[in-house]
Amino acid sequence: MSYAWFLKSGEAKHVKYLAKTDPVRAIFIRIIMRKIVKKFLGIFVFILSFGIMIPLGHSTGNLAQPLPVKNNTIQLLPSDRILVLAPHPDDEVLGAGGIIARAKKMNLPIKVVFLTYGDNNEWSFLLYRKHPVVLPKAVQNMGLIRHAEALAATKILGLSPEQLTFLGYPDSRTLNIWNNHWGVSRAVKSMLTEVRAVPYENAFRPRAPYKGEEVLKDLKAIIHEFKPTKIFVSHPADRNPDHRALYLFARIALWDLEDEIKPTVYPYLIHYRRWPLPRGYHPEQLILSPDIFKQEINWQTVHLSVEEVDQKYTAIKKHRSQYISSAKYLLTFIRSNELFGNFPVIRLNQNGSTHVVASPMGQEHASFVGLEERSVSIEDNNLVITINLSRRVGKTVGVSLYVFGYRKDRDFAQMPKVHIRLGALGYKVFDQNKKLPLESVKVKRDPKEITIKIPLRLIGNPQRILTNAQTYLGKVPLDWVSWRELELSF
Ligand SMILES: [Zn+2]
Repeated sequence: MSYAWFLKSGEAKHVKYLAKTDPVRAIFIRIIMRKIVKKFLGIFVFILSFGIMIPLGHSTGNLAQPLPVKNNTIQLLPSDRILVLAPHPDDEVLGAGGIIARAKKMNLPIKVVFLTYGDNNEWSFLLYRKHPVVLPKAVQNMGLIRHAEALAATKILGLSPEQLTFLGYPDSRTLNIWNNHWGVSRAVKSMLTEVRAVPYENAFRPRAPYKGEEVLKDLKAIIHEFKPTKIFVSHPADRNPDHRALYLFARIALWDLEDEIKPTVYPYLIHYRRWPLPRGYHPEQLILSPDIFKQEINWQTVHLSVEEVDQKYTAIKKHRSQYISSAKYLLTFIRSNELFGNFPVIRLNQNGSTHVVASPMGQEHASFVGLEERSVSIEDNNLVITINLSRRVGKTVGVSLYVFGYRKDRDFAQMPKVHIRLGALGYKVFDQNKKLPLESVKVKRDPKEITIKIPLRLIGNPQRILTNAQTYLGKVPLDWVSWRELELSF
């Protein structure tokens, strides 16, 4: 698919006609079309990368396993205060709509916070508006439509508009903020609204710059004021970058506030490869935990009443712009339970004990290209990370490793955000977008094993670490290994 191909299509005939009669407008439309083609090309490459896994013996078997038994059910207590953190409008219903409905029935204090207005979903907007929505103002209007949809959906669950907060950070760019836009770095630019600060007047803090410390400031202010006892938040292993980012920002906010408040955190998973199955509306069935994480996550569930399931069903349909384009997928989450679970914290001490983190992607995926496992340990004031690859890193396949330190006595925005990028021929080290000398870290590589020694000093002598590794084919991620939390005890 290319721009030239697009120009041959019926849609483009109109542009050719315009070129003769109104050249300025034709140029303008061409720019817009280029944008769309570029975007869909990315999605196409992405789908292709998964498509080629199937002939390589990927299982199509059942990825689910039976639910944990009774002692793993979540109970809401009369003293609870419920905070739901949703990356986009609709995640609040998909991930925790049943929890919200139940908490409302119990008259518990409830707050729902949306990280974005979900204004970067061209495909759904195209179907909703029946024409491409690409001009920044038109995109912002779609953000406002999604805002209104969230109000309508949560009203079905019993909430009033005052119980909702919209932060307005850029849809699909919040993990970029997390990775690269802190402190001295410039605010990120959103893809379609083309701004570097919150453009919505009805947001929590209009004109807040798109930077890490701003997201953190908002979340901390809300948590500090609302004082939740239970927080339901997107999952650190979710395939959608905004879902991972919201978890990470919330994690830092809670570490910063832990002397004051220690709510229990319940992450919900929404986007994961071929999960949950079967797709579609099966309200009588349970959402089962994905067995890719069965060894590491102790999943907890909430069984929903028929009435709660029904409320969830009616609520999700209120997210009309999304429902039009992906009803079958959204309805997959209307089941007789909701599921939550988090990875345990990995505790490391100075004696060099090694913690092995298995790839949650499963053996078969790992045999395509991937991280079979990685292990972490502390040796002589270095964090040592060993990555075992399931096959040789080819010329186009790279590995990215993120290591962010946390210290109680230092502003997180000022802590180094170290990123090591390894290709077939060498590696680069960055602190956000700033290149660091190669000798900042030590890299030892064999064809299928990479060992990286990172001085604790380089990552700000942390007490805790958030880390993540991924493999890439060019710029397309091949697998996501979840962000994990390390605690250093010495
Ligand atoms: Zn989402």
